[in-house]
Amino acid sequence: MSLRVYNTMSGRKEDFQPLVPNKVGMYVCGVTVYDYCHIGHARANIVFDIIYRYLQFTGFDVTYVRNYTDVDDKIINRANERGIDSKTLAEEFITAFNEDMDTLGLAKPTHEPRATDYIKEIIAICNTLIDKGMAYASGGDVYYRVDKFDDYLKLSKRNMEEMQAGARITPGEQKENPMDFALWKGAKPDEPSWESPWGPGRPGWHIECSAMSSSLLGESFDIHGGGRDLIFPHHENEIAQSEAANGKPFAKYWMHNGFVNVNQEKMSKSLGNFFTIRDIVEKYDPEVVRFFILTAHYRSPIDFSDGNLEDSASGLSRFYEALQAAAEAVDGVAESDQKSELGAELDAKFREAMDDDFNSALAIGHLFEGVRTMNRLISEKKFRKKADLVAQVRDLHATVLKLGDVLGLFKSEPKAWLEQFKLAGLRNLDISADQIDQLIAERLQARKDKNFARSDEIRDELDAAGIILLDSREGTSWKLK
Ligand code: ZN
Repeated sequence: MSLRVYNTMSGRKEDFQPLVPNKVGMYVCGVTVYDYCHIGHARANIVFDIIYRYLQFTGFDVTYVRNYTDVDDKIINRANERGIDSKTLAEEFITAFNEDMDTLGLAKPTHEPRATDYIKEIIAICNTLIDKGMAYASGGDVYYRVDKFDDYLKLSKRNMEEMQAGARITPGEQKENPMDFALWKGAKPDEPSWESPWGPGRPGWHIECSAMSSSLLGESFDIHGGGRDLIFPHHENEIAQSEAANGKPFAKYWMHNGFVNVNQEKMSKSLGNFFTIRDIVEKYDPEVVRFFILTAHYRSPIDFSDGNLEDSASGLSRFYEALQAAAEAVDGVAESDQKSELGAELDAKFREAMDDDFNSALAIGHLFEGVRTMNRLISEKKFRKKADLVAQVRDLHATVLKLGDVLGLFKSEPKAWLEQFKLAGLRNLDISADQIDQLIAERLQARKDKNFARSDEIRDELDAAGIILLDSREGTSWKLK
């Protein structure tokens, strides 16, 4: 099977055929840089990160553009509150964004343009649209004439009459039609501005993406992505601007990721259920956050809650336990010429899942089957003497790591990751690592003294506290129940 992608435009999965064979141009709307990123941004960026990685993994030459909106009302207001200029504020949060994306292990896009570096291109599109009668200057602003674009609302499938009935013109805006939207806004006092044929001003929000995408990917390109909340008005307006200006189809495939709820409620600042990436990674390993996001299909809504994150942490720990066990089980066993088909079979299943509209949830399910098979093989009697089984475990182990890498998973050293996971898990229990170590030492002494009643008692006591003891030749270690 080859790649199929759900296209919001057609409302169905379509065969993926890029405009130029083997090359993909992908544009994803980035953040407005006035504050720290939240879990919703984490999801959108991780989703398009794995789409980018998977396309590359399957051999496409991908140009991935993700912009920064660095001029906007929210940036200007926040900068004024803090008494700094909006450029300084934007740069501060671009740096913070990059730190957050590094924490989450995201691959760097090919280009990360800033809107304010494309003012010349933005003005050129406005001029073209005015020349074509699709836009008009009015009181220092420039507006797009939505009723002149026949395909307006083709992406969101909204109804123009209904929308028009509810639309109002904001005081100060001199529009012909309340549905018209601003391409250029005349400068108000204390705002950053650029010279233009309509006087000093700044771009409206939507026009920047039309300018940056055509400059970096061409007038027509393959994938345009973003969160579902961007379908209207942002993406609808990008289509109207670009297609009217260029007379060509804009993006071929429109991909949108689902919402993030928090404890089954919509996340919002007013509800106080608002978590930044920085808040979350204080409590959970960044890879747990990534694993949590990828265990749902990218179009489905996900529910962010401590319970779901804890489940993801233990799910990921089972992978690391298996990877650790497999590495130990084959360590020092001589290589043989035994062949294994298991890795290739897993690889095929993984690709089949990802080819079906990037079904990372199913792909992770297949990886989990792979590690269960590894665990089963390792537990066979005289495993290290059976060259065929050792070859299979080596093959599966390498394949799980290779495919995990496509999803940005299993990047840590298993032993270190598991130790950190174990200690993090203690925060939910009424026992500390020191107390556990003391009890283990006491139990060792009890066994030396042949006081087996006390030794058993300690084991039971720890079990009741949620700790399981593991005895081996190297000594006694523990894990969470
Ligand atoms: Zn955009």
